[in-house]
Amino acid sequence: MSKQTHAFQAEVAQLLHLVTHSLYSNQEIFLRELISNASDACDKLRFEALNDTALYEDAPDLQVRLSFDKTAKTLTITDNGIGMTAQEAIDHLGTIAKSGTKDFVSKLSGDQKSDAQLIGQFGVGFYSGFIVADKITVETRRAGATPSEGVRWISGGTGDFEVETITRAERGTSVILHLREEAQEYANTWKLKEIVGKYSDHISLPILMEKEEWKDGELIEPNNEEGGRKPGGMVKTGEWETINKASALWTRPKKDISDEQYADFYKQISRDFEAPLTWTHNRVEGSTEYTQLLYIPSKAPQDLWNRDKKAGIKLYVKRVFIMDEAEALMPSYLRFVKGVVDSADLPLNVSRELLQESRDVKAIREGCTKRVLSMLEDLAKHDKETESTDGVTDVLSDEDKAKLGQYSKFYAEFGAVLKEGLGEDFGNKDRLSKLLRFASTTSDTVSVSFADYKARMKEGQDAIYYITADTLAAAKNSPQLEVFKKKGIEVLLMTDRVDEWALNFVHEFDGTPLQSVAKGAFDLGKLQDEEEKKAAEDAAETFKPVLAKLKEALKDKAEDVRVTSRLVDSPACLVVTDDGMSMQLARMLKQAGQSAPEVKPVLEVNPEHALVKKLEGSVHFHDLAHILFDQALLAEGGLPADPAAYVKRVNSFLS
Ligand code: ADP
Repeated sequence: MSKQTHAFQAEVAQLLHLVTHSLYSNQEIFLRELISNASDACDKLRFEALNDTALYEDAPDLQVRLSFDKTAKTLTITDNGIGMTAQEAIDHLGTIAKSGTKDFVSKLSGDQKSDAQLIGQFGVGFYSGFIVADKITVETRRAGATPSEGVRWISGGTGDFEVETITRAERGTSVILHLREEAQEYANTWKLKEIVGKYSDHISLPILMEKEEWKDGELIEPNNEEGGRKPGGMVKTGEWETINKASALWTRPKKDISDEQYADFYKQISRDFEAPLTWTHNRVEGSTEYTQLLYIPSKAPQDLWNRDKKAGIKLYVKRVFIMDEAEALMPSYLRFVKGVVDSADLPLNVSRELLQESRDVKAIREGCTKRVLSMLEDLAKHDKETESTDGVTDVLSDEDKAKLGQYSKFYAEFGAVLKEGLGEDFGNKDRLSKLLRFASTTSDTVSVSFADYKARMKEGQDAIYYITADTLAAAKNSPQLEVFKKKGIEVLLMTDRVDEWALNFVHEFDGTPLQSVAKGAFDLGKLQDEEEKKAAEDAAETFKPVLAKLKEALKDKAEDVRVTSRLVDSPACLVVTDDGMSMQLARMLKQAGQSAPEVKPVLEVNPEHALVKKLEGSVHFHDLAHILFDQALLAEGGLPADPAAYVKRVNSFLS
């Protein structure tokens, strides 16, 4: 076939115009795209050769070679994959077949700046070569065809391209980029290695470059990028070396990967110096096919609390790196998980916007979430050595032994973030609730699960009791706990900032309601006997006149005043209504500069307390009332509205 000229399909011409006119910011993606095409071509050959090994000819080792010629100003990407026939070159390099790319082109606005941004995210396959080249020559031969059936395709990236027949001994394709004047930096070993390391390190195909050596070089400037040697410059040695890792770790069978290799890979992708706590590696098959390799770090990063922090998942499509921080693949409350998802179904030119809408991505996200939760459940199950019913400690396998204490470690670092999931991921709420751990009045360590608590509940107890406070000490010494201590009822102590918010979404566990001991009227139900109830009612009755006076004195501070039997040693405490925001949360919101409703608490007084008994008929009634209120506020971590007035009142009594 002699030289023929063909016009590009209209969409291609449009795309090319854009590529050549507005893509400056993310130039280097061209290499990723071309290497990815080369890798696809090798995959296709491998597949076709399953039925016809002759296609390998005498070159069974599939590879990509990068080479450049500074004088000719060319950069060449050569693969020994499937290659193209003349018709294929005309069809594939002259039209856009893929609907994804077509849709993308139709979305372009014509505004150079915003289009450039879009295009940078999408990647434009073969045509991205024109970002750095003002002319591209493709020389190719289809595997199985004769050398005389080689093809040369040439285009300047404007309206048309030329195709002619050539003789080409090697199977496969060479894409020769005639570098633009301003893109000469890509004719440089160091630069190419850097880009390959960034985007194509885990392509399973080896990427080769010819080794270079210094000729008559003497060190002049040791710190410049070429190592500072000049006169003779770098010369090629004729020896080729692999410049990528050439092995996508996650594509290898689990049994062939050592723990150390898993840990090394984690360190590489996370830039963490410490080994991960644990990981999970699976190939998921079904309607959406993908591989997931997910790690849980040992330590929380500094910026864990930044909700804008992106997920730590890298997205690959068929081993080609697509993007970092693919937040669509992992819910925000699992943002600490690091790893790789490699999809077989997503298009290479997928964008973040597209990810948000894709059904495949939804399936992947759900799958990854479930995996992480199972991984955590497994750690939780093996966190403590368990005693079986006959009192004999289970004999643990080495693998299980390694998991001892791991969940506690995880929880100390990431437990609070996990709680965000309660309000974020309703589908997994039950699983998440089971993963929660708290300190309690019987355990200083954060290790009590709702299930542990339930197993220890008193007979007649029909709620899981908890208290939220700023610190463990404040929680433990809350006056609201007094009667619970006296009766030996366990109370969960919650001291994470997110607890109160998270508990808005958990009202019960396994059929047992959760009840704050600082909210609502005091009612221990069956845990109080008739006598106690009668005494409380009597006290309320005899106290009525005093309560009325207290209410009047504190009308600006307290919503209500009532007697309670929840107190033992303290004279008074504050509670809020059942559905009210706790005072602690209101304070927290205020501190964070957010609007919080003015919480007017209920003052509860202990009719058995000497100070409370003194109220009746006291000439200092007003001062005593305010001291009672302010002390109750102090006891739960608040500050009196007028601290100086409080101090004055107390001092007048002291002296
Ligand atoms: P995509 O790779 O997304 O399909 P491209 O524009 O990058 O889109 O490439 C278009 C087509 O050209 C490919 O689908 C493939 O058929 C063909 N092609 C590109 N590069 C090569 C190559 N190195 N070897 C063989 N075929 C190729």
